Amino acid sequence: MFLTGIIGFPLIKTLSPEMHNRAFRALGLEGRYLTFRVKGNDLKSALQGLKALGFSGVNITNPYKEKVIDLLDQIDRRAKKIGAVNTIVIRDRRLYGYNTDAEGFEISLAVCRIHLRRKKVLLIGAGGGARAVAYVLRKNRPEKYYVCNRTRKKAMKLIQVFGGELLKSNRLEKSLPEFDLVINATTVDLQARCLKRMRKGSTYYDLNYRFKMRKKKGVKMVNGLLMLVYQGAGSFRLWTKRRPPIKVMKRAVGVI
Ligand code: NAP
Repeated sequence: MFLTGIIGFPLIKTLSPEMHNRAFRALGLEGRYLTFRVKGNDLKSALQGLKALGFSGVNITNPYKEKVIDLLDQIDRRAKKIGAVNTIVIRDRRLYGYNTDAEGFEISLAVCRIHLRRKKVLLIGAGGGARAVAYVLRKNRPEKYYVCNRTRKKAMKLIQVFGGELLKSNRLEKSLPEFDLVINATTVDLQARCLKRMRKGSTYYDLNYRFKMRKKKGVKMVNGLLMLVYQGAGSFRLWTKRRPPIKVMKRAVGVI
């Protein structure tokens, strides 16, 4: 039996349970994916409880992707570099931390035929999601990439690890027409602000999958659903060692 789930707070509306539970059923595996609203002070004991209950692993979401690192027995290299863990595997009562957000983002780009080579990219945000995106940007080397974040210190910290240049928040609007790809990795909906100034032929990618996507002629719009599917597929593979049923997972979240 694969016992899995997601830990976060306040954890409002997540599509992950539907996606994973359908994936278990599709492969004929006995498995469950449950949601756990856990308060900060209880995170450590919640993880101990999962070990005792025989869980295979869990996803970790806001606000614990960084905080959880100190509670793990081991963390893989990529998650360490990104500084955020979204997947825990439990084996022999030990907690192993991984980050599948980066692969989720990278595969979603390929599926949407968004190429980074020779592109000018703007990453807005500097939290856990943004750091996974920055990991992919660094790996794929666009012509140039800029980072813009409300708190400049956090943007500088990200740039120190992953490269890129700082775009000051007060220069955002003015600079938007320069970019081929604008990625919103903040928790706020920036479509109205960005689309006004983005040029034809460019792409707006929002990591969030709950915002209602607007339309602008000539601008390709992508939301976080595909990233959700592929990061989920990464977690599913780590827990079950089986090939995730991608089509089933996509259907579960409504991308096909
Ligand atoms: P996070 O670590 O809490 O970071 C939040 C980011 O949003 C920070 O850059 C923060 O800026 C910025 N922000 C928050 N409120 C703001 C405001 N009022 N004005 C301007 N900036 C603001 O969150 P996260 O985990 O990176 O998640 C970010 C988004 O990505 C969320 O929408 C999440 O759902 C999405 N996400 C999606 C997937 C997926 O699979 N599709 C995976 C991961 C994340 P400061 O540094 O100034 O606070």
